[in-house]
Amino acid sequence: MIKENLEYVEKNIRKACEKAGRKREDVTLIAVSKTKPVSDIREAMACGITVFGENKVQEIRDKTAEITEPLSWHMIGHLQANKVKYLPGVACMIHSVDNRKLADEIEKQAAKHDLVMDVLVEVNMAHEDTKFGLSPDEAIDFVKEISTLPHLNIRGFMTIAPYTEDPESNRVYFKGLRELKDQVNSLSIPGVHMDTLSMGMTGDYEVAIEEGATFVRVGTGIFGERDYSKKA
Ligand SMILES: *Cc1c(COP(=O)(O)O)cnc(C)c1O
Repeated sequence: MIKENLEYVEKNIRKACEKAGRKREDVTLIAVSKTKPVSDIREAMACGITVFGENKVQEIRDKTAEITEPLSWHMIGHLQANKVKYLPGVACMIHSVDNRKLADEIEKQAAKHDLVMDVLVEVNMAHEDTKFGLSPDEAIDFVKEISTLPHLNIRGFMTIAPYTEDPESNRVYFKGLRELKDQVNSLSIPGVHMDTLSMGMTGDYEVAIEEGATFVRVGTGIFGERDYSKKA
């Protein structure tokens, strides 16, 4: 089933790129494997997938301990500062930076490992109470604030759009995030050039691509529904 799902998602990504006049290689599909077993990840790998997303530090650690092939692992979920120490050398990018304490801890741990961590600032475009992330108004000042941290490379923005049956209703948020990125770039903040927009999930990735997504994070559309009643 994973193979067929991936073929379907790939076809839709290509269509959306074509519609938007974008190149396929400018969009990276992140296969969101949270809660899913290693066997599912191996099935996706067999289809050529090398980029995976997880939302829990423990799960990334367990899975990378078991799967030692060279893959890219993205930390896409809410992150507590005390867990950051496990990520350098394991995750290639953290998508969910939304507070100073977390940024400072990433700085400290990346410095300890003598590496620069690619990060995205998470923005709550729809001002949903249930979601993490900064409001669009706060985002630019926050980028300026953390831009001085030498072991963070601020690559762009991430957003989780509202759950909806109608992907078109999220277009405004994806467009807004792209405009926010363009605004940051026009400010020429020293050390900051944003080239990344992580937006779009199973329900709305085509619209996100049309609005400029460079990463789409697709879980259910590849691996099927998640079962939270049992552990992965
Ligand atoms: C789970 C998750 C996804 C994938 O969601 P689907 O709707 O299953 O595609 C994407 N982004 C984040 C941050 C997630 O936690």
